[in-house]
Amino acid sequence: MLSPKKTEYFKQFLETRIAELESTLDSAQRETRIDSARHADPADQAASEYERQAIIHKATSARQMIRVLTQALDRLRQGTFGECASCGGDIEAKRLEAIPWATYCLRCQGAREQGWSQHT
Ligand SMILES: [Zn+2]
Repeated sequence: MLSPKKTEYFKQFLETRIAELESTLDSAQRETRIDSARHADPADQAASEYERQAIIHKATSARQMIRVLTQALDRLRQGTFGECASCGGDIEAKRLEAIPWATYCLRCQGAREQGWSQHT
């Protein structure tokens, strides 16, 4: 189980990352809105469409990451943080430090990735 100090560390880490991503998302949404009104020239519009797609892509991955981090935060609150969602064992401490939102231990993650590559 996690020590209170570790719990607090991960909580702060996750909350900070979520706040960062939310501001990324906010500015992305603002940019896409302003952009469509600004350009009248077709060439400009093509360029801005490209930019818009890039911003939308950024916003989509930010949104997905927020969801993943929020789920990790929930697990932290429920006391299941650091537990592998597949085998129920402990996720390696080193792995958690590198990827605090990890859902699986190394072994299960490896097995899942192999399963996926076999399907493709
Ligand atoms: Zn596992």
